[in-house]
Amino acid sequence: MKIAIFGAGQLAMMMIQSDKNHEHEFVVIDPSSKPPASNYAQHIQTDYADPKTLDKIKNDYDIATIDFENVDVGAMMELEKYIPVHPSSYSLEVCQDRLKEKELFRSLNIDTTPFFKINNMDDLEKNIKVDKSYILKTRRFGYDGKNQYRINPNDIINTDLLEQDCILEELVDFESEVSLICVSSTIGDIYYYPLVENSHDNGILNMSIYPSNYTYLQPDAELIGRDLIKSMNYFGVLVIEFFVSRDKRLIANEMAPRVHNSGHWTIEGSNISQFESHVNAISGKKVNADSISHKPSAMLNILSKHVSKDTITNIEMNYDVFFHDYHKTERKNRKLGHMTHTCATRDELEENIEEIMKLL
Ligand code: AMP
Repeated sequence: MKIAIFGAGQLAMMMIQSDKNHEHEFVVIDPSSKPPASNYAQHIQTDYADPKTLDKIKNDYDIATIDFENVDVGAMMELEKYIPVHPSSYSLEVCQDRLKEKELFRSLNIDTTPFFKINNMDDLEKNIKVDKSYILKTRRFGYDGKNQYRINPNDIINTDLLEQDCILEELVDFESEVSLICVSSTIGDIYYYPLVENSHDNGILNMSIYPSNYTYLQPDAELIGRDLIKSMNYFGVLVIEFFVSRDKRLIANEMAPRVHNSGHWTIEGSNISQFESHVNAISGKKVNADSISHKPSAMLNILSKHVSKDTITNIEMNYDVFFHDYHKTERKNRKLGHMTHTCATRDELEENIEEIMKLL
């Protein structure tokens, strides 16, 4: 099939790499010059809503998908009059707005932290209780901890985030964070990857580990995944991020209408990666979900600075580790690549990761 991907970052790159038998032809659309996926497919360097490009895609391509959730919803609405767009413009509209997303969770009785719509300082002062901590987030364009402001009891609030529409969330005193990769195919199959446990640094994903310590929460997570997929009539990979509360309940934080950083471990850790699953799901390829298996895996993000060739060689000589380079220049907190270590048991994984981190 001919597949157009809006956004040409590392997620698009790994989607294209997952098509090992070259069953599909890809084009990537992205306004930046030399984005990661441009090394693997034709790149149209333009705005996501460029009418000429949309015309080309609707005439020459079979399906459209995204690697970046903030693509122009209007452009996707226009495109889906002609070709299937997965996920749909409606799903994007919900997931682009933290308030709409949380309201959808609430309407489906999915637990969230208490949240409030905030348009100005009055709203904020009205909703803050003196003995509680909060996070103020812009409703749109927040990722990797960006556009967030922590408010502790008795803080004097000083933030320019209120220039935009915001959501106020009560701070969750969580025990851990997990995410669920859901796969919904256009031929009606739905399956899930096992929960993966995530740790963050300054709001940016640092490490994901499979198996998580919360395998008993898998059925609850899958019920939530199914409800969200059905309610949005969603096709492709959908990832839901949860907090695990101290009393071991899932509290939904947010969802990503796309493949996700916490699923990168599946490239080496599973016989069908999240990327391959997404491409299969949107192109309607039959997959036997029972044939998908997983190995204990840990994924570490490489942020800000590249790892030297010598270090990579040293680690690769001693451990089953795979490095992925996103072909990006160094910048503070930029995701430049990741590495995945796979092995036989979680205990071994934890021991090895400690050693590998010392070598990095
Ligand atoms: P987000 O952009 O909403 O995924 O937030 C990034 C990270 O910030 C999350 O993975 C958490 O580690 C932390 N965080 C976000 N919202 C909350 C919250 N309401 N309570 C506690 N931690 C949070």
